[in-house]
Amino acid sequence: MGIDGKMSLRLLIGGMRGSQPAIGSGFDEFGGDTTSLLLVGSRGERLVLDAGTGLRIVAGQLALMEPGEVTVVFSHYHLDHMAGLTMNPLFHQSDWSFKFVGPTFADSTAQEAITRLLAQPYWPISWKQMTAKLEFAKLPMGGIEVGGLRVRECPVPHPGGAFAYRIDDSGCDTSMVFATDIEWKQRTPANEAAFLTLCREPSPADLLVIDAHFGDVDQKAFAGWGHSSREDCLAIASATGIEKVLLGHHAPEADDEKLRAAERQVKQLSPGAALARAGQWLTIGG
Ligand SMILES: [Zn+2]
Ligand SMILES: [Zn+2]
Repeated sequence: MGIDGKMSLRLLIGGMRGSQPAIGSGFDEFGGDTTSLLLVGSRGERLVLDAGTGLRIVAGQLALMEPGEVTVVFSHYHLDHMAGLTMNPLFHQSDWSFKFVGPTFADSTAQEAITRLLAQPYWPISWKQMTAKLEFAKLPMGGIEVGGLRVRECPVPHPGGAFAYRIDDSGCDTSMVFATDIEWKQRTPANEAAFLTLCREPSPADLLVIDAHFGDVDQKAFAGWGHSSREDCLAIASATGIEKVLLGHHAPEADDEKLRAAERQVKQLSPGAALARAGQWLTIGG
Protein backbone atom coordinates (compact mmCIF):
# COMPACT_ATOMS: atom_id res chain seq x y z
CA MET A 1 0.00 0.00 0.00
CA GLY A 2 1.39 3.41 -0.95
CA ILE A 3 1.28 6.44 1.32
CA ASP A 4 -1.81 7.69 -0.54
CA GLY A 5 -3.63 4.43 0.25
CA LYS A 6 -3.32 3.11 -3.32
CA MET A 7 -1.91 -0.34 -4.02
CA SER A 8 1.67 0.04 -5.19
CA LEU A 9 4.90 -1.75 -5.99
CA ARG A 10 7.70 -0.54 -3.75
CA LEU A 11 11.43 -0.92 -4.15
CA LEU A 12 14.18 -0.72 -1.56
CA ILE A 13 17.75 -0.23 -2.70
CA GLY A 14 19.75 -2.28 -0.19
CA GLY A 15 22.96 -1.65 -2.12
CA MET A 16 24.02 -0.95 -5.69
CA ARG A 17 27.80 -0.83 -5.53
CA GLY A 18 29.46 -2.93 -8.20
CA SER A 19 32.21 -5.53 -7.96
CA GLN A 20 33.31 -4.89 -4.37
CA PRO A 21 31.96 -3.02 -1.37
CA ALA A 22 33.35 0.47 -0.84
CA ILE A 23 33.92 1.80 2.65
CA GLY A 24 34.68 5.29 3.93
CA SER A 25 33.23 8.74 4.46
CA GLY A 26 33.16 9.34 0.69
CA PHE A 27 30.55 6.62 0.21
CA ASP A 28 27.80 7.75 2.59
CA GLU A 29 25.34 9.15 0.06
CA PHE A 30 25.23 6.40 -2.59
CA GLY A 31 26.30 3.62 -0.22
CA GLY A 32 29.08 1.07 -0.41
CA ASP A 33 27.16 -2.21 -0.23
CA THR A 34 26.92 -4.40 -3.32
CA THR A 35 23.74 -5.22 -5.22
CA SER A 36 20.66 -6.35 -3.36
CA LEU A 37 17.17 -4.95 -3.85
CA LEU A 38 13.82 -5.69 -2.21
CA LEU A 39 10.55 -5.41 -4.08
CA VAL A 40 7.34 -5.40 -2.07
CA GLY A 41 4.38 -6.12 -4.30
CA SER A 42 0.95 -4.55 -4.00
CA ARG A 43 -0.33 -7.69 -2.25
CA GLY A 44 2.62 -7.78 0.12
CA GLU A 45 4.76 -10.20 -1.94
CA ARG A 46 8.46 -10.03 -1.05
CA LEU A 47 10.97 -10.49 -3.81
CA VAL A 48 14.69 -9.96 -3.29
CA LEU A 49 16.84 -9.36 -6.37
CA ASP A 50 20.42 -10.52 -5.80
CA ALA A 51 22.12 -11.00 -2.46
CA GLY A 52 25.17 -8.73 -2.39
CA THR A 53 26.23 -7.13 0.88
CA GLY A 54 23.20 -4.80 0.55
CA LEU A 55 21.18 -7.82 1.74
CA ARG A 56 22.05 -6.60 5.25
CA ILE A 57 19.93 -3.46 4.67
CA VAL A 58 17.21 -5.54 2.98
CA ALA A 59 17.13 -7.99 5.91
CA GLY A 60 16.86 -5.08 8.35
CA GLN A 61 13.72 -3.87 6.55
CA LEU A 62 12.27 -7.39 6.21
CA ALA A 63 12.74 -7.84 9.97
CA LEU A 64 10.27 -4.98 10.49
CA MET A 65 7.61 -6.91 8.53
CA GLU A 66 5.52 -9.96 9.35
CA PRO A 67 7.75 -13.09 9.19
CA GLY A 68 6.96 -15.40 6.28
CA GLU A 69 7.99 -16.15 2.72
CA VAL A 70 10.63 -14.35 0.70
CA THR A 71 11.70 -15.27 -2.83
CA VAL A 72 15.29 -14.43 -3.79
CA VAL A 73 16.11 -14.32 -7.51
CA PHE A 74 19.70 -14.16 -8.77
CA SER A 75 20.99 -12.41 -11.89
CA HIS A 76 24.12 -14.61 -11.65
CA TYR A 77 26.50 -15.86 -8.95
CA HIS A 78 29.45 -13.49 -9.04
CA LEU A 79 30.50 -12.77 -5.47
CA ASP A 80 29.33 -9.16 -5.41
CA HIS A 81 25.79 -10.54 -5.89
CA MET A 82 26.16 -13.31 -3.28
CA ALA A 83 28.30 -12.00 -0.42
CA GLY A 84 25.30 -10.91 1.69
CA LEU A 85 24.16 -14.52 2.06
CA THR A 86 26.76 -15.21 4.73
CA MET A 87 25.34 -12.87 7.35
CA ASN A 88 21.56 -12.69 7.20
CA PRO A 89 20.11 -12.96 10.73
CA LEU A 90 16.73 -14.00 9.29
CA PHE A 91 18.31 -17.27 8.08
CA HIS A 92 18.55 -18.18 11.75
CA GLN A 93 14.87 -17.61 12.56
CA SER A 94 12.45 -20.49 12.06
CA ASP A 95 9.46 -18.30 11.16
CA TRP A 96 11.12 -17.11 7.95
CA SER A 97 11.27 -19.05 4.72
CA PHE A 98 13.51 -18.22 1.76
CA LYS A 99 13.17 -19.65 -1.72
CA PHE A 100 16.29 -19.12 -3.84
CA VAL A 101 15.70 -19.17 -7.57
CA GLY A 102 18.27 -18.75 -10.30
CA PRO A 103 19.61 -19.87 -13.64
CA THR A 104 22.40 -22.38 -14.17
CA PHE A 105 25.81 -20.91 -14.97
CA ALA A 106 29.09 -22.82 -15.39
CA ASP A 107 27.12 -26.01 -14.63
CA SER A 108 26.12 -24.61 -11.23
CA THR A 109 22.49 -24.28 -10.22
CA ALA A 110 21.41 -21.73 -7.60
CA GLN A 111 21.46 -24.53 -5.04
CA GLU A 112 25.00 -25.59 -5.93
CA ALA A 113 26.34 -22.01 -6.00
CA ILE A 114 24.72 -21.05 -2.68
CA THR A 115 25.40 -24.23 -0.72
CA ARG A 116 29.03 -24.18 -1.87
CA LEU A 117 29.42 -20.65 -0.51
CA LEU A 118 27.61 -21.37 2.77
CA ALA A 119 30.00 -24.15 3.77
CA GLN A 120 33.64 -24.62 4.73
CA PRO A 121 36.16 -23.40 3.68
CA TYR A 122 34.29 -20.23 2.64
CA TRP A 123 32.04 -19.84 5.71
CA PRO A 124 31.95 -21.47 9.15
CA ILE A 125 28.18 -21.91 9.32
CA SER A 126 26.69 -24.33 6.85
CA TRP A 127 23.33 -23.59 5.23
CA LYS A 128 22.19 -26.87 6.83
CA GLN A 129 22.54 -25.29 10.29
CA MET A 130 20.27 -22.37 9.43
CA THR A 131 16.87 -22.65 11.10
CA ALA A 132 14.84 -20.72 8.55
CA LYS A 133 13.26 -22.84 5.83
CA LEU A 134 15.58 -22.64 2.82
CA GLU A 135 14.42 -23.92 -0.57
CA PHE A 136 16.12 -23.90 -3.95
CA ALA A 137 14.70 -23.92 -7.45
CA LYS A 138 16.00 -23.70 -10.99
CA LEU A 139 14.64 -20.73 -12.85
CA PRO A 140 12.24 -22.19 -15.41
CA MET A 141 12.19 -20.79 -18.93
CA GLY A 142 9.50 -18.13 -19.01
CA GLY A 143 10.17 -17.12 -15.41
CA ILE A 144 8.18 -17.52 -12.22
CA GLU A 145 5.20 -16.06 -10.41
CA VAL A 146 5.40 -14.81 -6.85
CA GLY A 147 1.81 -14.08 -5.83
CA GLY A 148 0.68 -11.40 -8.26
CA LEU A 149 4.24 -10.66 -9.39
CA ARG A 150 5.20 -12.12 -12.73
CA VAL A 151 8.97 -12.41 -13.11
CA ARG A 152 10.29 -12.88 -16.67
CA GLU A 153 13.93 -13.47 -17.53
CA CYS A 154 16.23 -12.48 -20.37
CA PRO A 155 19.90 -13.48 -20.86
CA VAL A 156 22.24 -10.50 -21.19
CA PRO A 157 25.90 -10.21 -22.25
CA HIS A 158 28.25 -10.57 -19.26
CA PRO A 159 31.34 -12.78 -18.75
CA GLY A 160 29.96 -16.16 -17.67
CA GLY A 161 26.39 -15.03 -18.31
CA ALA A 162 23.75 -13.08 -16.40
CA PHE A 163 20.00 -12.63 -16.57
CA ALA A 164 17.92 -9.48 -16.52
CA TYR A 165 14.39 -9.65 -15.12
CA ARG A 166 11.15 -7.86 -15.67
CA ILE A 167 8.67 -7.84 -12.80
CA ASP A 168 5.03 -7.02 -13.52
CA ASP A 169 2.70 -6.48 -10.56
CA SER A 170 -0.81 -7.38 -11.69
CA GLY A 171 -2.26 -5.88 -8.50
CA CYS A 172 -1.31 -2.36 -9.50
CA ASP A 173 -0.42 -2.70 -13.19
CA THR A 174 3.16 -1.61 -12.52
CA SER A 175 6.43 -2.98 -13.84
CA MET A 176 10.16 -2.78 -13.39
CA VAL A 177 13.16 -4.14 -15.28
CA PHE A 178 16.26 -5.11 -13.30
CA ALA A 179 19.37 -5.48 -15.45
CA THR A 180 22.56 -5.58 -13.48
CA ASP A 181 25.80 -6.85 -14.95
CA ILE A 182 25.05 -6.27 -18.60
CA GLU A 183 27.59 -5.09 -21.17
CA TRP A 184 25.39 -3.54 -23.80
CA LYS A 185 28.23 -2.95 -26.26
CA GLN A 186 28.89 -6.75 -26.40
CA ARG A 187 25.31 -7.58 -27.37
CA THR A 188 24.38 -9.77 -30.29
CA PRO A 189 21.34 -8.90 -32.43
CA ALA A 190 19.46 -11.65 -30.54
CA ASN A 191 20.45 -10.17 -27.13
CA GLU A 192 19.36 -6.75 -28.29
CA ALA A 193 15.99 -7.87 -29.58
CA ALA A 194 15.24 -9.94 -26.46
CA PHE A 195 16.22 -7.23 -24.00
CA LEU A 196 14.38 -4.44 -25.81
CA THR A 197 11.29 -6.66 -25.91
CA LEU A 198 11.59 -7.31 -22.17
CA CYS A 199 11.72 -3.55 -21.56
CA ARG A 200 8.85 -2.74 -23.93
CA GLU A 201 6.30 -5.52 -23.64
CA PRO A 202 3.49 -5.57 -22.84
CA SER A 203 4.14 -1.85 -22.26
CA PRO A 204 7.28 0.18 -21.48
CA ALA A 205 8.35 -0.64 -17.93
CA ASP A 206 7.67 2.02 -15.30
CA LEU A 207 11.26 1.80 -14.07
CA LEU A 208 14.54 0.47 -15.45
CA VAL A 209 17.22 -0.34 -12.86
CA ILE A 210 20.40 -0.98 -14.78
CA ASP A 211 24.16 -1.46 -14.60
CA ALA A 212 25.89 1.82 -15.42
CA HIS A 213 29.26 0.98 -13.93
CA PHE A 214 31.18 3.20 -16.34
CA GLY A 215 31.12 6.53 -18.08
CA ASP A 216 31.47 6.13 -21.86
CA VAL A 217 35.24 6.88 -21.87
CA ASP A 218 36.08 4.32 -19.16
CA GLN A 219 33.81 1.72 -20.70
CA LYS A 220 35.95 1.70 -23.85
CA ALA A 221 39.07 1.03 -21.77
CA PHE A 222 37.34 -1.86 -20.02
CA ALA A 223 35.61 -3.49 -22.99
CA GLY A 224 34.77 -7.10 -22.15
CA TRP A 225 34.61 -6.51 -18.38
CA GLY A 226 30.87 -6.99 -18.40
CA HIS A 227 29.38 -3.58 -17.69
CA SER A 228 27.62 -0.78 -19.51
CA SER A 229 28.10 2.95 -19.61
CA ARG A 230 25.60 5.50 -18.37
CA GLU A 231 25.19 6.66 -21.97
CA ASP A 232 24.27 3.10 -23.10
CA CYS A 233 21.64 2.87 -20.37
CA LEU A 234 20.01 6.16 -21.29
CA ALA A 235 19.95 5.08 -24.95
CA ILE A 236 18.16 1.82 -23.99
CA ALA A 237 15.59 3.76 -21.96
CA SER A 238 14.99 6.18 -24.79
CA ALA A 239 14.69 3.37 -27.37
CA THR A 240 12.13 1.52 -25.26
CA GLY A 241 10.05 4.46 -24.03
CA ILE A 242 11.00 3.99 -20.35
CA GLU A 243 10.92 7.36 -18.62
CA LYS A 244 12.36 6.51 -15.20
CA VAL A 245 15.84 5.04 -14.97
CA LEU A 246 17.90 4.22 -11.92
CA LEU A 247 21.57 3.67 -12.66
CA GLY A 248 23.61 1.36 -10.47
CA HIS A 249 26.51 -1.08 -10.13
CA HIS A 250 28.56 1.99 -9.19
CA ALA A 251 32.30 1.42 -9.58
CA PRO A 252 33.98 0.88 -6.17
CA GLU A 253 36.29 3.84 -6.77
CA ALA A 254 33.45 6.23 -7.68
CA ASP A 255 32.92 8.23 -4.48
CA ASP A 256 29.92 10.45 -3.71
CA GLU A 257 31.51 13.48 -5.33
CA LYS A 258 32.14 11.60 -8.59
CA LEU A 259 28.67 10.07 -8.58
CA ARG A 260 27.00 13.42 -7.87
CA ALA A 261 28.86 14.90 -10.86
CA ALA A 262 27.82 11.92 -13.00
CA GLU A 263 24.22 12.35 -11.89
CA ARG A 264 24.22 16.03 -12.90
CA GLN A 265 25.36 15.02 -16.41
CA VAL A 266 22.83 12.20 -16.59
CA LYS A 267 19.95 14.48 -15.62
CA GLN A 268 20.88 16.92 -18.37
CA LEU A 269 20.56 14.11 -20.89
CA SER A 270 17.49 12.51 -19.31
CA PRO A 271 15.54 14.28 -16.53
CA GLY A 272 13.89 10.99 -15.46
CA ALA A 273 17.22 9.31 -14.70
CA ALA A 274 19.02 9.20 -11.36
CA LEU A 275 21.78 7.23 -9.67
CA ALA A 276 20.67 4.63 -7.11
CA ARG A 277 21.26 5.50 -3.46
CA ALA A 278 21.42 2.72 -0.87
CA GLY A 279 18.69 2.84 1.75
CA GLN A 280 16.27 4.53 -0.65
CA TRP A 281 12.61 3.34 -0.79
CA LEU A 282 10.82 4.15 -4.04
CA THR A 283 7.21 3.74 -5.07
CA ILE A 284 7.18 2.59 -8.69
CA GLY A 285 4.59 3.90 -11.15
CA GLY A 286 1.43 5.74 -10.12
ZN1 LIG B 1 28.40 -7.33 -10.35
ZN1 LIG C 1 29.00 -10.10 -12.67
